[in-house]
Amino acid sequence: MAKAGERVYMDHISAMPVDPRVVDFARPYLEQGHGNPSSLHRVGQAAKGAIQEARQRVADLINAESADTIIFTGGATEANNLAIRGTASRNARKGKRVVSSAIEHMSVLNPMKELQKGGFEYERAGVDEHGLVDLDELGRLVTKETTVTSLMYANNEIGTLQPIGEVADIVHEQGHFLHVDGTAAAGRVPIDVQAENIDLLTLSSNDLYGPQGVGALYIRPRLRLQTVMPGGGQERGFRSGTENLFGIAAMGEAARLASAEMESESQRLKGLRDELISGILKMDETYLTGHPERRLPHHASFRFAYIEGESLLMNMDMYDIQVTTGSACSSKTLEPSHVLLAIGLSHEQAHGSMILSLGHSNTEDQVPRVVKATGESLERLRALSPLYNPRPDDPSKRTE
Ligand code: PMP
Repeated sequence: MAKAGERVYMDHISAMPVDPRVVDFARPYLEQGHGNPSSLHRVGQAAKGAIQEARQRVADLINAESADTIIFTGGATEANNLAIRGTASRNARKGKRVVSSAIEHMSVLNPMKELQKGGFEYERAGVDEHGLVDLDELGRLVTKETTVTSLMYANNEIGTLQPIGEVADIVHEQGHFLHVDGTAAAGRVPIDVQAENIDLLTLSSNDLYGPQGVGALYIRPRLRLQTVMPGGGQERGFRSGTENLFGIAAMGEAARLASAEMESESQRLKGLRDELISGILKMDETYLTGHPERRLPHHASFRFAYIEGESLLMNMDMYDIQVTTGSACSSKTLEPSHVLLAIGLSHEQAHGSMILSLGHSNTEDQVPRVVKATGESLERLRALSPLYNPRPDDPSKRTE
């Protein structure tokens, strides 16, 4: 077992540590009495300038047309709600139909279900065994009454990257607006909202090594939505409430660092990830989930037969290695992941998952430790399983 101080944190998909450079940059906005960005005096105007600079940095990360396309929110959940509910409500006279894939995050699925309760039609396109959206089905579901189609750029549980350009063509030929949840992908792979024809894009500060509880929504110029947070009219009226100056400045710096470092860091993490995958897939009854190539560079996800994901997570934690079994947001429920069911796994298979998501702190020498700890944990847990029998000459004993 690992000694104290040898922590291997591989759960960046649930939470990323805040980059110390981001903290250094944003500290003055917390400590030095900056004003309200709506105040007309010079202290207020300095705060407004800091927010404008952050807006530009976030816009640059996704090649947005201008800083003004970026609206800061209280996180990705809020940005998803604003995009989906705001667009659907504002455009209800064009049609009352909304579409997503079956593997979206709860912060997309649940606003869609709320719209359904309010009289909208809501359809979900299925995905294949690797998690790629079924483009034919999407093409059948999106109609001229479909105002919002929402698809994630990358899935947080299985790492699969969607063909956003092709999805955008379908949505714009047959329906209206494409919202993309870019939370898991931004800062890991390049996103270009103009080249990829994205109308609305959700971003999260923490997924860029910024603080939690801050996010942003890119809104294509001239696209109109209804606010879901009426009040004092901040953020061009789309999201009222005095701005979180510290959080926004920090998100701006996090976005700037991501733009500068994404290419080399993603390349480095991809190398570690591939070693983890090849080491772990050598183990008995072990399978990769998600797409083998079209996946996030820092993301490796697996399923193990005869294993409960939670037990595996706790075993790995005894080695001071932090991993997750699925979405952090639904980890308190005992329900199997809707993502793993959608790629065709049975309930039983879906319970045996593990996600390794890498970041700045992970190094080459950690890879063999994680592989070894995974192997030992699987052995320990399977020794307790009445269903598991590792002898290949006796397959009848395996009753999966
Ligand atoms: N979308 C995706 C893909 C996510 O992984 C998450 C969770 N990090 C969210 C949305 C919601 O983010 P938050 O909890 O920060 O609002």
